Amino acid sequence: MKILITGGCGFIGTNFIMYLLNNEEIKQDIQIINIDKQTYAGQGKNIEHLGIDKNPNYSFIKCDICNKPFLSWIFKKEKPDLVFNFAAESHVDRSIENSEDFILTNIIGTVNLLEVSKQNNIKKFIQISTDEVYGSTKDKSFNEDSKLNPSSPYSSSKAAADLQAIAYYKTHNLPVIITRSANNYGPYQFPEKFLPLFITNLIDSKKVPLMWSENNPGLNVRDWLNVLDNCRAIWFVSQNKENGEIYNIAGESERTNIHMTKKLLNYFGFGEEMIEKINHRKAHDFRYSISSEKLKKLGFKFQYQNLDSEIDKLIKWYKENQEWWRLLKK
Ligand code: NAD
Repeated sequence: MKILITGGCGFIGTNFIMYLLNNEEIKQDIQIINIDKQTYAGQGKNIEHLGIDKNPNYSFIKCDICNKPFLSWIFKKEKPDLVFNFAAESHVDRSIENSEDFILTNIIGTVNLLEVSKQNNIKKFIQISTDEVYGSTKDKSFNEDSKLNPSSPYSSSKAAADLQAIAYYKTHNLPVIITRSANNYGPYQFPEKFLPLFITNLIDSKKVPLMWSENNPGLNVRDWLNVLDNCRAIWFVSQNKENGEIYNIAGESERTNIHMTKKLLNYFGFGEEMIEKINHRKAHDFRYSISSEKLKKLGFKFQYQNLDSEIDKLIKWYKENQEWWRLLKK
């Protein structure tokens, strides 16, 4: 089975490739083609760091998913069975500064992939999306039928991509599946994101920038999902016969940002003097919360939900793999 993965040099894409190639049952029968533009977020040499580049069942093509002729050429040559679209501009703060690349990659790039997938009769197209498309909620959890209500240029570009994917399913019968996951944590996450930024700052005894105001001193809630559970769930739904379905993948571990910050400070033996209070971003979503009931009804079981011990392991990973992140954090 030929599996084309876009964005495989980034955080979740790398972990997904590693998951497939390490899984005794799955690895027997797969050939992976990773296509990635290697933006700033794909510069981490994750694949080389893991030795995946030497695996005979893996190959890499440097390609921008906005380059449709090149995509067409790749699909004709490689004839993939499954397509997993991880490629994206993924950092909300960057989308607030300038949304152009988000529109190009997340929307136009996804439509290019849907179109060439349609032309090449692929068996399944898995669009990797986010809980952020539902926007913020104070007191409930969204299910897959909840209204799309994104706040940032990032999340609205992801919502637009989801709608295009659904349109390709409805109009052209393209076998599309969409996954919407919570905040992932794990190894190889670019050190601009909350957890790797805070952990790597604290390794260097530097302050951590927490979004703060008098009314809202770090009380925003995020739901933390182990990247391995996300990879397991993405593969699990890709093997299901149903098409045109959306699956939420929750972490079921909601914590305020101040709670997570204090946990990290405590681990490193620091007090709250190490918090640098910064302004909330514009339209800062207060709480993300999704329900995974639909995924669980299909038979999926989460494996890595002990957040405290998983975060301890994560800190250890960033301590032990400094050569990986120091290159990215100049
Ligand atoms: P990331 O920023 O770490 O990686 C993105 C990868 O895509 C990089 O390797 C980059 O080089 C590549 N890329 C960017 N533009 C490209 C283009 N035009 N053509 C080809 N490749 C391109 O992102 P991530 O955190 O691994 O996220 C992967 C996917 O999961 C994204 O679609 C994101 O929206 C979604 N998601 C992420 C999270 C999370 O917590 N990280 C949560 C929910 C959903």
